[in-house]
Amino acid sequence: MKRLMRLRASQHLRDLCAETEFSRAQLIQPFFVVEGLKNEEAIAGLRGNVRHNIPSALRQIEKDLNDGVTQFLLFPVPAEKRDSGFDHRSTHQTISEIRRQFGSSLCLWIDTCLCSYTTHGHCAVLDERGIKLEETLDELAKSAVAFAEAGADGISPSDMMDGRVARIRTGLDEKGFEMVPVMSYSTKFASNFYGPFRNAADSAPQFGDRRHYQLDVRNRNDAIAASRRCAEEGADLLMVKPGMTSLDLIRPIHEQTGRQVGAYQVSGEYAGMALLAEQGLIKFEEALLETWHVFKRGGAQFVITYGARYAKQLGV
Ligand SMILES: [Zn+2]
Repeated sequence: MKRLMRLRASQHLRDLCAETEFSRAQLIQPFFVVEGLKNEEAIAGLRGNVRHNIPSALRQIEKDLNDGVTQFLLFPVPAEKRDSGFDHRSTHQTISEIRRQFGSSLCLWIDTCLCSYTTHGHCAVLDERGIKLEETLDELAKSAVAFAEAGADGISPSDMMDGRVARIRTGLDEKGFEMVPVMSYSTKFASNFYGPFRNAADSAPQFGDRRHYQLDVRNRNDAIAASRRCAEEGADLLMVKPGMTSLDLIRPIHEQTGRQVGAYQVSGEYAGMALLAEQGLIKFEEALLETWHVFKRGGAQFVITYGARYAKQLGV
């Protein structure tokens, strides 16, 4: 009788046959720094994550580094919202203070978008007719250059505007940042699973939604084309988001572009597990690890997760 169960009978045999391995070096920890924030603020649902000011972010990074986290994704949240001519001084200060304190012991990616900067919370400069694409692309390229000048290791555009990767690449190259990589949110769906994040980043749209520029979850071809286009425009790394609802796309995107593809385990996915655990219905850490392995099995090279800082205690 064929016995597939034979090789599952002990931990040693299961480990011998494990097809996916996970390294802590392939987990990216997001964090939020809010300009002018007096004290840390809890974020509903995002266990182990708070909104930081600069000193508290520095303390958290130190702790995370001690726990073996080396990859970080900063979401800068400026105090003053505008509709154009954005001011990057507070983000510049955050990045340069992190760099000054920790040098090259961490890899610091910067989320590059306009939704935390605008009064309306959309990812673009708008006028009464809608998105002003050229002005938006200029602002994104300026942001990328400002972040690179402050000491960012990588730029991570999350806006989903046509042409942003090419414009950012050109902007960086013109200023001598040819070696700063772009990790593009290349296949990003309009989704219900971003809820907890929007509170953390002050980025909930004040009107309408983001379906004008984010992908329609019903469309596979469009989703792959979006990543392929980012690769053609010069993105070094690609990403699917939300991870859970994009599992079927990771491997095809990798095969069609030759680029490494990561999965963003978004705030709603993460908070869902945290809330289940609060109700005593699942074990949070074990569920987290389970999902990371599934992303890996699905072809993800790396995972962006609010739980990267739990990896060490999970034996990853
Ligand atoms: Zn945005």
